[in-house]
Amino acid sequence: MKLLITGGAGFIGSAVIRHVIANTADSVIIVDKLTYAGNLESLAEVSDSERYHFEQVDICDRAELERVFKQHQPEAVMHLAAESHVDRSIDGPAAFIETNIVGTYTLLEVARSYWRELDEKRKSRFRFHHISTDEVFGDLDGPEALFTEQTPYAPSSPYSASKASSDHLVRAWRRTYGLPTLITNCSNNYGPYHFPEKLIPLMILNALEGKPLPVYGKGEQIRDWLHVEDHARALYRVVTEGKVGETYNIGGHNEKQNIEVVHTICALLEELVPSSSPYTSLITYVADRPGHDLRYAIDAGKIQRELGWVPQETFDSGIRKTVLWYLENQEWCRRVQDGSYQRERLGMANEV
Ligand code: NAD
Repeated sequence: MKLLITGGAGFIGSAVIRHVIANTADSVIIVDKLTYAGNLESLAEVSDSERYHFEQVDICDRAELERVFKQHQPEAVMHLAAESHVDRSIDGPAAFIETNIVGTYTLLEVARSYWRELDEKRKSRFRFHHISTDEVFGDLDGPEALFTEQTPYAPSSPYSASKASSDHLVRAWRRTYGLPTLITNCSNNYGPYHFPEKLIPLMILNALEGKPLPVYGKGEQIRDWLHVEDHARALYRVVTEGKVGETYNIGGHNEKQNIEVVHTICALLEELVPSSSPYTSLITYVADRPGHDLRYAIDAGKIQRELGWVPQETFDSGIRKTVLWYLENQEWCRRVQDGSYQRERLGMANEV
């Protein structure tokens, strides 16, 4: 199968591509604008494959998207390109509206015209898989409730509102035009190649450098954590075996308070890189994020029952692997932190 994957140079997209190249016979066509979050170095281990094609294209650029569809003739789209960082969406929502809403609309329109012209056999097999977040559901009431596929949307941040909008567009393109779409809503991911602005890599790298570990509010926010490679396996299962028109929630059954996650990282570092003063002494509580949701948790029963997907990592196994990965890949981290991945990547994009 030929998969067109938007946002393939990002954290989750690159995990999907590494999974597809390593475990299937499929080809990937990566469509990525290479914003600050796109890093071709996360794809270095698979970019030599003949089944790997990279296109530096903005999903808001209709003409360029049309060229890519025409040239590569994809059999399915996995749409991961997005502005994804909540704090950035609070400081500057415009890029979130542009990419997450206008970009998704543009991609849907190009995919629809392309799909309409396919012969009946290819048309019936075509899939448009939209990758979204559990943040579209907003805050959960109480300690027991779980997000299901029926939970009403109530987004709190510009990021989650823009993702909710894109989910609605995808559903409308299914209902109105018959485009064969699927949607997945996933909880917080963690794992290798995660950009250091996000909680887990930020804590690991700051701790190693003896810098403060900034924790919002009292660190009581609860998130469900899923290892990115489990998410990649789930996404591939959905695009290949999911039922058209359906939504699947994806989660790791790993609800943790943020402060618990930070303490776990400190304890692992204490074991792996002992320091003279405890890493926990670096924890610094900072003013909470405006509109910060307290608790997210996913009921991933549907994807388990209907598609047989279950996560392979527990939080303990996944976080240990992740801390080890950051310890062993300091060069990748250094190049992200000092910006060299951005300065040199134009040359790399042209080579691949
Ligand atoms: P990311 O920020 O790491 O990567 C996003 C990628 O999209 C980058 O490579 C970037 O260059 C690219 N991109 C941004 N704007 C673009 C545009 N206009 N045109 C083309 N490419 C563009 O994000 P991620 O964490 O890998 O998330 C991927 C998807 O999964 C997003 O849609 C996000 O909403 C969703 N999601 C993320 C999480 C999580 O925990 N990270 C959880 C659930 C869902």
